[in-house]
Amino acid sequence: MLAEKLAELRTAGLYRSRRVIDSAQGIYLQIDGKQVLNFCSNDYLGLANHGDVVAAFKQAADKYGVGSGSAHLVCGHSYEHHALEAELAEFTGRERALLFSTGYMANLGVIAGLMAKGDVIYEDKLNHASLLDGGLLSGAKFKRYLHNDMANLQLKMANDNAAAMIVTDGVFSMDGDVANLAALSEIAIKKQALLLVDDAHGLGVLGETGAGLVEECGLNQQQVPLLVGTFGKAFGTSGAFVAGSELLIETLIQKARTYIYTTALPPAIAAATRMSLTIIQQETERRNHLKALIERFKTGAKQLNINLMSSDSAIQPILIGDVDKTVQISEKLLQQGFWVSAIRPPTVPQGSARLRVTLSAAHQNHHVDSLLEALVTASAL
Ligand SMILES: *Cc1c(COP(=O)(O)O)cnc(C)c1O
Repeated sequence: MLAEKLAELRTAGLYRSRRVIDSAQGIYLQIDGKQVLNFCSNDYLGLANHGDVVAAFKQAADKYGVGSGSAHLVCGHSYEHHALEAELAEFTGRERALLFSTGYMANLGVIAGLMAKGDVIYEDKLNHASLLDGGLLSGAKFKRYLHNDMANLQLKMANDNAAAMIVTDGVFSMDGDVANLAALSEIAIKKQALLLVDDAHGLGVLGETGAGLVEECGLNQQQVPLLVGTFGKAFGTSGAFVAGSELLIETLIQKARTYIYTTALPPAIAAATRMSLTIIQQETERRNHLKALIERFKTGAKQLNINLMSSDSAIQPILIGDVDKTVQISEKLLQQGFWVSAIRPPTVPQGSARLRVTLSAAHQNHHVDSLLEALVTASAL
């Protein structure tokens, strides 16, 4: 049975496998004894192997050891965790922040911790899997609205009176476009629904101080009561948080099962993340350089008739459609020394397989230019 199912996946071109990396995360990666230029990581600011972040990690490991020892509510909540939470609350302009061990866990815990049978959850069709899974896990009525379609959302909400939550990605992870947060916030307030924004790909990258899409849109805690951020992307480390009111955070400490029943992040990860946060806040030039690279890539692609999706973010997907063709182009690029991942269903809807190009502040102009050239060559085949 299992073998047949795997064979089916292979036939459909949907079999997934891993490549082993033999170097630090960065714009150059070593795979199969060969160096390739990396255009598929979420390390948007180049912090995953930043000297100061690594040093903070080592120093904290010397002081606190490797493991946190237990869950936060037993004896695993260290000074580094506590300090990071306070700094994140201030950074995002929220009363409190609460750490989770991964973004996936944060989304499951927050949604299922606050919503239950009898309630109703509205989610954008293109939301990240963890947001969808959290909604399903909660037992609440689960409704998906068309991507970024406010009229469709309002239609779905029209006859509901139950306690409600609206859930959305900030920057959509596979498309790179952004949610209409101002409109979502207005709808949520009017309908007395909680609004959860998962800004995994906006945090550190967007906004004047790097506080993400909510900062760029100027939305405060009343307007976006639940803000989820992750450390595995622009922060270059690992873990996640939710920020919001004192009342919501205290409720989650009591109720979020993925918070309560799991081991706390290693304190050294929290220390490294604090250093990333400092760099994010201080080094605006990283964000500015990344913005310039995005513009360069978009302009260059236009000149070369490469069809990009409508994204202004560091995620610049090229829609191919056909699964086999997408994989072929990705493999061709790899032969030329460029790593661009092929994203296939079910990660994206049927018929919308794509190359997901991601840019990083660690890239230079000539990297972008050479990728554009390689894309033309590889797509011609
Ligand atoms: C990556 C991602 C997550 C999951 O975060 P992890 O810390 O990797 O588990 C959640 N939501 C979105 C939108 C993401 O892109």
